[in-house]
Amino acid sequence: MGLREQFTGWRPGLWAGWRPNGVGEQKPNHYRDMAKAAWANRNHPRYAWDVLTKGACDGCALGVAGLHDWTIDGVHLCTTRLNLLELNTADPFDPVVLSDVAALRGRTGGQLRALGRLGHPLRRGRGEPGFRLVSWDEALSVLAAGLRGAPPERVALYMTSRGITNEVYYAAAKSARALGIASIDSAARVCHAPSTVGLRQTVGVAATTCSLQDVVEAPLVVLWGTNPANNQPVFMKYLYLARRRGCRVVVVNPFLEPGLERYWVPSNVESAVFGTKMSDLHVPVRPGGDVALANAALKRLIERGAVDDRFVADHTEGFAEVHDRLADQDLDHLLALAGVDGPTLDAFVDELVRAGGAVHVWSMGITQHRDAAEGVRGIVNLALAQGGVGRDGVGLMPIRGHSGVQGGAEMGAYATALPGGAPVDPEHAAALAREWGFPVPDRPGLTAPEMVEAAGRGDLDVLWMSGGNFLDVLPDPPAVAAALARVPLRVHQDVVLTSQMLVEGDDVVLLPVATRYEQEGGGTETTTERRIVFSPELPRRVGEARSEWRVFADVVNRIRPALRPHFSWPSNQALRSEIARVVPLYAGIETLAVTGDQVQWGGRHLCTGGEFPTPTGRGRFSAIEPAERRLPDGAFVVSTRRGKQFNSMVQAAVDPLTGAGRDAVMIDPVDAADLGLDAGDRVRLRSDTGTYDGTVTLARLPARTLQVHWPEGNVLIAAGAEHREPASKVPDYNAVVTVERA
Ligand code: SF4
Repeated sequence: MGLREQFTGWRPGLWAGWRPNGVGEQKPNHYRDMAKAAWANRNHPRYAWDVLTKGACDGCALGVAGLHDWTIDGVHLCTTRLNLLELNTADPFDPVVLSDVAALRGRTGGQLRALGRLGHPLRRGRGEPGFRLVSWDEALSVLAAGLRGAPPERVALYMTSRGITNEVYYAAAKSARALGIASIDSAARVCHAPSTVGLRQTVGVAATTCSLQDVVEAPLVVLWGTNPANNQPVFMKYLYLARRRGCRVVVVNPFLEPGLERYWVPSNVESAVFGTKMSDLHVPVRPGGDVALANAALKRLIERGAVDDRFVADHTEGFAEVHDRLADQDLDHLLALAGVDGPTLDAFVDELVRAGGAVHVWSMGITQHRDAAEGVRGIVNLALAQGGVGRDGVGLMPIRGHSGVQGGAEMGAYATALPGGAPVDPEHAAALAREWGFPVPDRPGLTAPEMVEAAGRGDLDVLWMSGGNFLDVLPDPPAVAAALARVPLRVHQDVVLTSQMLVEGDDVVLLPVATRYEQEGGGTETTTERRIVFSPELPRRVGEARSEWRVFADVVNRIRPALRPHFSWPSNQALRSEIARVVPLYAGIETLAVTGDQVQWGGRHLCTGGEFPTPTGRGRFSAIEPAERRLPDGAFVVSTRRGKQFNSMVQAAVDPLTGAGRDAVMIDPVDAADLGLDAGDRVRLRSDTGTYDGTVTLARLPARTLQVHWPEGNVLIAAGAEHREPASKVPDYNAVVTVERA
């Protein structure tokens, strides 16, 4: 939007109120936060400016090059990115800090990050009080010896999404397979793995089918279990522009997130001054009630004759079975399972019918459940019933929270997929082996939660991690710590210190690595709309930090020198050329060289013209039976939620959108009154796994449901196969708890 347009065509009907910039309201103060970020980066203002104006954002996966994206005119910037900037301008800490780790125990992730960048290779043996400085050569020799001495099935490699580029994921994926290691996994496992499973089975492709431009052009956006106001802030600007064009917004979530009710878009004059009402309907589904809700909505669409019969007949399969199964499912029972009343369901269906299709957006509220893949399939059913794929203004969007997760899985840094998303089976492994010139494991490896369980059983000899913090992101942190302590050799390569590094082991090695901006030759990320975006090298030396793609190649060359020709990329431009060859989906990546260069695989839409990349060429409906859930008397379901944070990095002690502190136990006022509780009371939640003490915070929630922040609430979450979605292995980040006064 140009400046002139900023002052024309205002929509008072969308205004949140008359107070300028929502003064006095519970809302973020974006301008103050910008000033804070500028101050925090005062030691390297020039470098910070370069990162902002030339780099591809290392925050969420909306994607931006410099300060501009491919969806809107004007500036694309948010406070999440500004807060991450500190990681890119920090100086290395003195390794003496780690000579006695006892002093660091109990520090929060934020306090550890505030120490500065990890700048030197370090090593600590069991019984030693802390880490000692070692050379890169010693550190890599230790890792190489560990890998040489361990059977590949007793080795695991985990990659987080911390700004890691496609080039690094690819190098890691190839290196692991060259060493016979099948157990390589990435952060996508604990977020959108069920979307990958559900979408591949139904529409044949594990990615967003539309583009962010379709959000702006949508007649209706349905937000399922997602809160972009916190997690992808600039998405709210897209929604604002969409609403100016008449777009309706439905929020399907237990809690009407305040930022989805109204939001002040800081870079738009009208919205910054008056705020914008961001949604038209809230569907307060119970946690885990999404499958029943999707079934109920489809049943009503059918009853109202609002299905796109032609699209269904010409381009899909399985509808007759779904139709028959839904006929057997009692609507009142579905509503009871969903926790939604009939009028609200009808209002939702009215929106779908009026729009004739929608952009369906979802994230962890759908995917971090035991029946998450069913939830995804339920949403796909609704989209297919309306012919809502492959055309402008509609689509399926599993919105990604991190700039690395889409590319990580597509580069094959995934236990259940080879590069290009190919299944791990003998046929595809053999094809890849011909391409790469060495044998490739042909069975899926351990997923992230399975790695920790293997470690706990004593079945892992080497755990090699790039970033991440299993202590934060996986259920039952005490069990995770005990498991990590059992691994004979752990290697953590990262840009900062994390609490898992402090867990004692026989041998723990820390490797300092470059950020995506410092990385030699720059690198690419893949955004949530499948856009491969180039971020140039912004040279900066931080201690002895090295580019990760070189680290992976170095390790393989030490262990299997015969493979040196396959791991001797002279530059990462050569690496990109290899990716283009091995992953045809990524054709064009080899041409990217400067800020703003990008290529969107698949184009604006996938499945255009109703042509689905499934074996039959048709989109598949799924007949789904919602799970029955019985809550013991007096018990509650607690779900984990995000506040002002990026991944597990907490960026504010109080969420500016909700006003909730990190220890908030959000509970409905009616439930609180039944328990004799009031705002500010201290309570203890008790699950079969652990206890959690927090502060009562009142919020409108479905009866007998609670919300606590993630990762703090993970002490309540159970680990183990029975607490995971069976196909994708994503943990169920919900628990049944009792509530008592603390
Ligand atoms: S919305 Fe996401 S991609 Fe855009 S600036 Fe913020 S964190 Fe970066």
